Amino acid sequence: MTVEAIIAAPMRVRGEGGRALQSRVRELAGEVGLPRHLVEAYPSQLSGGQRQRVAIARALIGEPEILICDEPTSALDVSVQSQILNLLHNLKRQLNLTMILISHNLAVVHHLADEVAVMYLGQIVERGPSREIFERARHPYSEALLKAVLPPRAGARLPEMGLEAEFPSPLNPPSGCTFHPRCPKAEALCARQMPDKSGTAHIYRCHFPNN
Ligand code: SF4
Repeated sequence: MTVEAIIAAPMRVRGEGGRALQSRVRELAGEVGLPRHLVEAYPSQLSGGQRQRVAIARALIGEPEILICDEPTSALDVSVQSQILNLLHNLKRQLNLTMILISHNLAVVHHLADEVAVMYLGQIVERGPSREIFERARHPYSEALLKAVLPPRAGARLPEMGLEAEFPSPLNPPSGCTFHPRCPKAEALCARQMPDKSGTAHIYRCHFPNN
Protein backbone atom coordinates (compact mmCIF):
# COMPACT_ATOMS: atom_id res chain seq x y z
CA MET A 1 0.00 0.00 0.00
CA THR A 2 1.14 3.54 -0.63
CA VAL A 3 1.44 6.01 2.23
CA GLU A 4 -1.75 7.66 1.00
CA ALA A 5 -3.68 4.37 1.11
CA ILE A 6 -2.33 3.58 4.59
CA ILE A 7 -3.34 6.94 6.06
CA ALA A 8 -6.76 6.83 4.38
CA ALA A 9 -7.51 3.22 5.40
CA PRO A 10 -9.48 3.98 8.62
CA MET A 11 -11.78 6.35 6.70
CA ARG A 12 -12.31 3.88 3.84
CA VAL A 13 -13.43 1.33 6.43
CA ARG A 14 -16.06 3.89 7.42
CA GLY A 15 -17.17 4.16 3.80
CA GLU A 16 -15.51 7.51 3.01
CA GLY A 17 -13.44 8.23 -0.09
CA GLY A 18 -13.13 10.59 -3.02
CA ARG A 19 -11.32 13.89 -3.41
CA ALA A 20 -12.20 15.21 0.04
CA LEU A 21 -10.45 12.26 1.67
CA GLN A 22 -7.50 12.56 -0.68
CA SER A 23 -6.94 16.20 0.20
CA ARG A 24 -7.42 15.49 3.92
CA VAL A 25 -4.68 12.82 3.71
CA ARG A 26 -2.30 15.28 2.06
CA GLU A 27 -3.10 17.98 4.59
CA LEU A 28 -2.53 15.57 7.48
CA ALA A 29 0.73 14.35 5.94
CA GLY A 30 1.91 17.97 6.08
CA GLU A 31 0.71 18.36 9.68
CA VAL A 32 2.81 15.37 10.84
CA GLY A 33 5.86 16.65 8.95
CA LEU A 34 5.86 14.30 5.95
CA PRO A 35 6.98 15.88 2.67
CA ARG A 36 3.85 15.80 0.48
CA HIS A 37 5.49 13.92 -2.40
CA LEU A 38 5.94 10.96 -0.04
CA VAL A 39 2.20 10.20 -0.05
CA GLU A 40 2.84 8.31 -3.31
CA ALA A 41 5.72 6.30 -1.76
CA TYR A 42 5.75 2.83 -0.22
CA PRO A 43 6.86 2.12 3.37
CA SER A 44 10.07 0.45 2.15
CA GLN A 45 11.11 3.81 0.68
CA LEU A 46 10.75 5.64 4.02
CA SER A 47 13.02 6.04 7.02
CA GLY A 48 11.98 4.78 10.47
CA GLY A 49 10.98 8.27 11.58
CA GLN A 50 8.90 8.85 8.44
CA ARG A 51 7.10 5.52 8.97
CA GLN A 52 6.30 6.58 12.52
CA ARG A 53 4.82 9.82 11.16
CA VAL A 54 2.66 7.78 8.78
CA ALA A 55 1.42 5.69 11.72
CA ILE A 56 0.59 8.88 13.66
CA ALA A 57 -1.26 10.37 10.67
CA ARG A 58 -3.27 7.15 10.24
CA ALA A 59 -4.21 7.27 13.92
CA LEU A 60 -5.30 10.92 13.65
CA ILE A 61 -7.32 10.86 10.46
CA GLY A 62 -10.47 9.73 12.25
CA GLU A 63 -10.15 12.77 14.58
CA PRO A 64 -9.95 10.78 17.81
CA GLU A 65 -10.33 12.37 21.24
CA ILE A 66 -7.81 9.95 22.74
CA LEU A 67 -4.56 8.71 21.22
CA ILE A 68 -2.88 5.66 22.78
CA CYS A 69 0.88 5.64 22.13
CA ASP A 70 2.57 2.39 23.14
CA GLU A 71 6.35 2.94 23.22
CA PRO A 72 6.12 5.46 20.35
CA THR A 73 9.87 5.99 20.04
CA SER A 74 11.39 2.65 21.10
CA ALA A 75 12.26 1.51 17.55
CA LEU A 76 13.81 4.82 16.49
CA ASP A 77 17.33 6.24 16.52
CA VAL A 78 17.94 8.68 19.35
CA SER A 79 18.26 11.60 16.91
CA VAL A 80 14.80 10.84 15.47
CA GLN A 81 13.20 10.16 18.85
CA SER A 82 13.25 13.81 19.85
CA GLN A 83 11.59 14.84 16.55
CA ILE A 84 8.74 12.39 17.09
CA LEU A 85 8.36 13.45 20.73
CA ASN A 86 8.17 17.09 19.73
CA LEU A 87 5.60 16.21 17.06
CA LEU A 88 3.43 14.36 19.61
CA HIS A 89 3.81 17.23 22.06
CA ASN A 90 2.69 19.80 19.46
CA LEU A 91 -0.20 17.65 18.20
CA LYS A 92 -1.42 17.18 21.76
CA ARG A 93 -1.68 20.96 22.15
CA GLN A 94 -2.95 21.82 18.67
CA LEU A 95 -5.66 19.14 18.53
CA ASN A 96 -6.50 19.23 22.24
CA LEU A 97 -5.84 15.49 22.39
CA THR A 98 -5.83 13.28 25.43
CA MET A 99 -2.80 11.07 25.02
CA ILE A 100 -2.14 7.84 26.90
CA LEU A 101 1.55 7.12 26.69
CA ILE A 102 2.89 3.67 27.62
CA SER A 103 6.66 3.68 28.06
CA HIS A 104 9.62 2.26 29.95
CA ASN A 105 11.59 5.37 29.02
CA LEU A 106 11.22 7.82 31.88
CA ALA A 107 12.80 10.66 29.90
CA VAL A 108 9.97 10.28 27.34
CA VAL A 109 7.38 10.20 30.11
CA HIS A 110 8.86 13.30 31.73
CA HIS A 111 8.84 15.18 28.42
CA LEU A 112 5.24 14.40 27.47
CA ALA A 113 3.11 13.52 30.47
CA ASP A 114 1.04 15.81 32.66
CA GLU A 115 0.06 12.90 34.88
CA VAL A 116 1.98 9.67 35.53
CA ALA A 117 0.82 6.23 36.70
CA VAL A 118 3.55 3.75 37.73
CA MET A 119 2.55 0.11 37.29
CA TYR A 120 4.06 -2.94 38.96
CA LEU A 121 2.83 -6.45 38.19
CA GLY A 122 -0.32 -5.13 36.51
CA GLN A 123 -1.34 -2.73 39.28
CA ILE A 124 -0.97 1.02 39.62
CA VAL A 125 1.25 1.55 42.67
CA GLU A 126 1.61 5.31 42.35
CA ARG A 127 -0.17 8.00 40.39
CA GLY A 128 -0.03 11.76 40.33
CA PRO A 129 1.06 14.93 38.56
CA SER A 130 4.25 14.31 36.58
CA ARG A 131 6.26 16.93 38.44
CA GLU A 132 5.32 15.46 41.84
CA ILE A 133 6.30 11.93 40.82
CA PHE A 134 9.63 12.98 39.32
CA GLU A 135 10.55 15.26 42.22
CA ARG A 136 9.05 13.33 45.13
CA ALA A 137 8.22 9.69 44.37
CA ARG A 138 6.51 8.13 47.40
CA HIS A 139 6.57 4.47 46.35
CA PRO A 140 9.90 2.55 46.56
CA TYR A 141 9.37 1.05 43.10
CA SER A 142 8.94 4.49 41.50
CA GLU A 143 12.04 5.61 43.36
CA ALA A 144 14.01 2.61 42.01
CA LEU A 145 12.88 3.34 38.44
CA LEU A 146 14.01 6.94 38.75
CA LYS A 147 17.37 5.84 40.16
CA ALA A 148 17.86 3.50 37.18
CA VAL A 149 17.93 6.29 34.60
CA LEU A 150 21.32 6.36 32.88
CA PRO A 151 22.93 9.81 33.30
CA PRO A 152 23.64 11.46 29.91
CA ARG A 153 27.42 11.78 30.21
CA ALA A 154 30.38 9.95 28.74
CA GLY A 155 31.74 7.14 30.90
CA ALA A 156 28.66 7.02 33.16
CA ARG A 157 28.21 3.61 34.79
CA LEU A 158 24.93 1.73 34.85
CA PRO A 159 23.04 2.97 37.91
CA GLU A 160 22.10 0.61 40.76
CA MET A 161 18.35 0.14 41.19
CA GLY A 162 18.86 -1.33 44.67
CA LEU A 163 16.19 -4.01 44.17
CA GLU A 164 16.34 -7.50 45.68
CA ALA A 165 15.31 -10.77 43.97
CA GLU A 166 14.05 -11.42 40.46
CA PHE A 167 10.86 -10.10 38.91
CA PRO A 168 8.10 -12.47 40.14
CA SER A 169 5.69 -14.35 37.89
CA PRO A 170 2.44 -12.41 37.31
CA LEU A 171 0.71 -15.84 37.29
CA ASN A 172 1.75 -16.43 40.89
CA PRO A 173 2.15 -12.98 42.44
CA PRO A 174 3.60 -12.57 45.96
CA SER A 175 1.23 -12.12 48.91
CA GLY A 176 0.41 -8.73 50.43
CA CYS A 177 2.23 -5.95 48.63
CA THR A 178 3.41 -7.72 45.48
CA PHE A 179 6.60 -5.67 45.51
CA HIS A 180 7.71 -6.91 48.95
CA PRO A 181 10.26 -9.61 47.86
CA ARG A 182 12.25 -6.90 46.04
CA CYS A 183 11.61 -3.88 48.21
CA PRO A 184 14.51 -2.52 50.30
CA LYS A 185 12.00 -1.07 52.80
CA ALA A 186 9.82 -4.19 53.25
CA GLU A 187 8.75 -5.25 56.74
CA ALA A 188 6.68 -8.22 57.96
CA LEU A 189 3.40 -6.34 57.46
CA CYS A 190 4.15 -5.89 53.75
CA ALA A 191 4.05 -9.66 53.08
CA ARG A 192 0.71 -10.00 54.89
CA GLN A 193 -1.33 -7.06 53.72
CA MET A 194 -1.78 -5.17 50.48
CA PRO A 195 -1.56 -1.47 51.36
CA ASP A 196 -4.64 0.69 50.75
CA LYS A 197 -4.46 3.73 48.53
CA SER A 198 -3.22 6.87 50.27
CA GLY A 199 -3.28 10.48 49.15
CA THR A 200 -5.68 12.46 46.99
CA ALA A 201 -4.12 14.15 43.95
CA HIS A 202 -0.91 12.13 44.45
CA ILE A 203 -1.97 8.53 45.18
CA TYR A 204 0.30 5.66 46.26
CA ARG A 205 -0.02 2.17 47.76
CA CYS A 206 2.68 1.62 50.36
CA HIS A 207 2.77 0.95 54.11
CA PHE A 208 6.07 2.84 54.47
CA PRO A 209 6.19 5.51 51.75
CA ASN A 210 9.08 7.87 51.20
CA ASN A 211 8.67 11.33 52.69
S1 SF4 B 1 4.23 -1.76 51.18
FE1 SF4 B 1 6.18 -2.48 52.01
S2 SF4 B 1 6.99 -3.81 50.41
FE2 SF4 B 1 5.38 -2.62 49.48
S3 SF4 B 1 6.44 -0.91 48.59
FE3 SF4 B 1 5.77 -0.26 50.62
S4 SF4 B 1 7.50 -0.70 51.97
FE4 SF4 B 1 7.85 -1.83 50.06
